[in-house]
Amino acid sequence: ALAADGVKKSYGSVEVLHDIGIEMAEGEFLVLVGPSGCGKSTLLNCIAGLEEITAGRLHIGGRDVTQEPPKDRDIAMVFQSYALYPTMSVGENIGFGMKIRKVPRPQMEEKIREVATLLQIDHLLNRRPSQLSGGQRQRVAMGRALVRDPALFLFDEPLSNLDAKLRVEMRAEIKRLHKRVGASIVYVTHDQIEAMTLASRIMVLKDGHIQQIGTPQEIYDRPANTFVADFMGSPP
Ligand code: ATP
Ligand code: MG
Repeated sequence: ALAADGVKKSYGSVEVLHDIGIEMAEGEFLVLVGPSGCGKSTLLNCIAGLEEITAGRLHIGGRDVTQEPPKDRDIAMVFQSYALYPTMSVGENIGFGMKIRKVPRPQMEEKIREVATLLQIDHLLNRRPSQLSGGQRQRVAMGRALVRDPALFLFDEPLSNLDAKLRVEMRAEIKRLHKRVGASIVYVTHDQIEAMTLASRIMVLKDGHIQQIGTPQEIYDRPANTFVADFMGSPP
């Protein structure tokens, strides 16, 4: 689904991603963890094409997309700070991508309803974003991504604005969704429990360097170094 080879990213003279290599199988759920400022969002933005990489190559869905603009990369992204279209209703926000692709209206409405039900915002479809809570807005942003069928989903802390109960529910929903549609996902979180429950593999990043990529079991049982052990809370 995704291959990153020797990817580097600098801002000015400061390198924030160093030689990132990732091989993701089809349908894999890769969870990216690491301390604040370690480069998680930057890496996602590079994969999406919102930031240009300084070196290396990126493949998505088997295609070299290194030189391609975001719109040609076959991805759907949910940002840490999501932006909804303020003048459109919730339903229109969710359906916007399908409208652009000229999906027939009945099919579009069915899909919107299905995703909104999944996210428990089906009673809010006619509201404007300004009339929603932060958590509800975050779910609309998620809904916009979920109606798509891309080669790769990119999620940057999509549950960070939700209360604990809803976060646990949404986590379960995302896991079910992943199982059902077999989507390939790169998912950033601060939450170790979220990482352990969602991931097929976890990638631990520190100061722009990959510390370890492995299954939750491997990361927990055989951390590559003391940083990984501390960060993931493995027993000493
Ligand atoms: P958080 O968990 O807080 O979201 P993160 O792991 O997503 O952190 P990034 O946002 O990827 O971290 O930032 C990685 C590094 O790159 C940080 O040191 C940050 O200050 C720096 N950085 C990010 N964007 C820019 C930019 N546009 N110009 C210069 N430096 C930047
Ligand atoms: Mg970030």
